[in-house]
Amino acid sequence: MKCFTKSFTQQPSLSELAIGRAVAVMQSGRLHRYNTPKGEASETDLLEVEFAKYQGSDYCLACSSGGYAMHIALRAAGVQVGDRVLTNAFTLAPVPGAIHNCGAESVLVEVDQNYCIDLRDLANKAEISQAKALLLSHMRGHIADMDELMRICQQHDLLLIEDCAHTMGASWGGKKSGSFGDIACFSTQTYKHINSGEGGLITSNNPQMMAAAILYSGSYMLYENHQAAPDKEYFSEAKLHTPNYSGRMDNLRAAILRPQLTELDSQVQKWNQRYSAIEKELQQCNQVRLPTRSAKENFVGSSIQFSLPARSSTEIAKVVEQCAQRGVSLKWFGDSEPKGYTSKYDSWAYLSEQSKLDRTEEVLASMLDMRIPLTFSVEDCQLIAQIICSVVNNS
Ligand SMILES: *Cc1c(COP(=O)(O)O)cnc(C)c1O
Repeated sequence: MKCFTKSFTQQPSLSELAIGRAVAVMQSGRLHRYNTPKGEASETDLLEVEFAKYQGSDYCLACSSGGYAMHIALRAAGVQVGDRVLTNAFTLAPVPGAIHNCGAESVLVEVDQNYCIDLRDLANKAEISQAKALLLSHMRGHIADMDELMRICQQHDLLLIEDCAHTMGASWGGKKSGSFGDIACFSTQTYKHINSGEGGLITSNNPQMMAAAILYSGSYMLYENHQAAPDKEYFSEAKLHTPNYSGRMDNLRAAILRPQLTELDSQVQKWNQRYSAIEKELQQCNQVRLPTRSAKENFVGSSIQFSLPARSSTEIAKVVEQCAQRGVSLKWFGDSEPKGYTSKYDSWAYLSEQSKLDRTEEVLASMLDMRIPLTFSVEDCQLIAQIICSVVNNS
């Protein structure tokens, strides 16, 4: 019986270039983004300029984490205490956490069978909840029909904040994920597409929102140092009314992220080769259902999701266990117990009462989720998929 032995949580090491840049920052002693000789741009400034360019957005702010980015992006977009914010029922815990952090209330929207936000439920809940904003999580890289989604946002006058933790490098209809909404958030945490341990990025074309985000991040009135920021006139009033919620990025992290950004598009190709290899094998197994993806979607296959629609919860739990015995680590969002990174909406007990989410229950009950780290070769991915098929076919 073939087994797989590599770790699903092992990321590739950083390049010599990134390590060299980090060493240079440490030698300089100037790790703080504002500890820069006059007239010189810090590593953090340069990262912001480069990421804004990559995204095709006017402004960018680097900060301490993806969750922090979402928190201040919601505030900068104008979400206030007591406001309702629509968001995906199928997402990760920092998303409802960010909404809670600004005193707003999450209204959870169902997932559809292709693991995207359910647009009919979105339109319906936008109507009945009178929500002010949508925090759209492109969860696990599944991008909803953005044409229809934008129409719903316009019709209901919803602010759109995009959570692009899993879509950095992805696009829809040739337009970068993160360039649809009023403001977008990214994560540079170890398991995302560029790795600084922790970190976040915010992009926007809205000068008021970006000025507010920079002030919230703790700019100590040094916002004029930022090179990917709006003109100083946008700060003049906001600076007295915007509290400092210190959450800046530092130069050490920015220094290791900049070379990774240069490599991002080629890394995306590597992820997609691995994704395709797994997908191809899983298509041979007739009990597995894979999501249908639009031709307009250019996703990043840094993880894969599939369903075993005919299986009961007990059977799914058994598949997870047997795959684990053969070295293949699957996550199951339908589990009643929250475990290592996966938690289901009903374990976020701090949320106010939600309407029934039958569709989400049904989809999550039979959906499995697997990371694809770039330390796996294409052959590794084929072996992994063969193991999954063999477990599914023999259980
Ligand atoms: C990882 C993640 C984030 C951001 O998380 P941090 O760990 O705070 O950087 C946001 N949304 C989703 C869906 C995520 O998976």
